[in-house]
Amino acid sequence: MTSDIRSHARPTCEVCLQSGATVVHKYTRSRWPVVACNACGFVYLGEVPAYEDLSVNLAWEKQHAEEKARRKRTNRHARLDALTRFRLKLGKLVDRARHARSVPDMGRVLEIGCGGSTRIPEGPTPYGIEISEGLSRKARPIFEARGGAVYHEPATTGIERFPEDFFDSIIMRSYLEHEAQPRLILERAFKRLKPGGTILLRSPNYNSANRYIMGSTWCGFRFPDHVNYFTPRSLCTLAESIGYEFRWKNWMSLFDDNLIVELRRPERERAQARPGLVAAVVP
Ligand SMILES: [Zn+2]
Repeated sequence: MTSDIRSHARPTCEVCLQSGATVVHKYTRSRWPVVACNACGFVYLGEVPAYEDLSVNLAWEKQHAEEKARRKRTNRHARLDALTRFRLKLGKLVDRARHARSVPDMGRVLEIGCGGSTRIPEGPTPYGIEISEGLSRKARPIFEARGGAVYHEPATTGIERFPEDFFDSIIMRSYLEHEAQPRLILERAFKRLKPGGTILLRSPNYNSANRYIMGSTWCGFRFPDHVNYFTPRSLCTLAESIGYEFRWKNWMSLFDDNLIVELRRPERERAQARPGLVAAVVP
């Protein structure tokens, strides 16, 4: 079904920038190889779809519907999964409260991967970037009614529309696992945050207890949608190498499939942690 999708290989690990990775056979169930970095262990897709195909062919809303149907057909733990659905509902409530706390009453907030609506609470001017054409069209009037805007393009270029030190806060909810260049977007976001500004980030947690229980049917696996499989450690390493302060917000929740973290641009910049590495990936 996805044979005509344009794709390219990822030659280096986004966390440690080393090349050399080994295929994780137990999780590779399609043409998209799941690999683990030989140097740091970070798990990612060794080949990813081109950005152009994420706009329509592999748009999130389409993939989401297909994944739901596939899971229904193949999930041998379907009953267990259904019984624990309450976790999702509870999660949504907690999520909403978390956004309200982390976003300022005024100023400017960016939501990367906003989908067809926004999670930015009333108050600040909302801006969005959405790679799906259909969803960005849906979101646009919502943002514009509040004085903001939505851009339909890859996040790595969309964020360059904004000046430096522009945002009070950025929301990356269920986005970074889809991004083939997580280091690049986090670098560009760092510059566009005001000093002291924060990113609220949510991404599947590869180290979640549920992944060990569900194995290859774990809900965090989506091919080729999810191209990064972060753990608290790998995300922390990546963020700190760019200069962020890393705070893991849900470390007490053993059964959360997601990792929720706050990345803060420090008020006063330290010397960039590993400038050589950063220069190597920014074109
Ligand atoms: Zn690595």
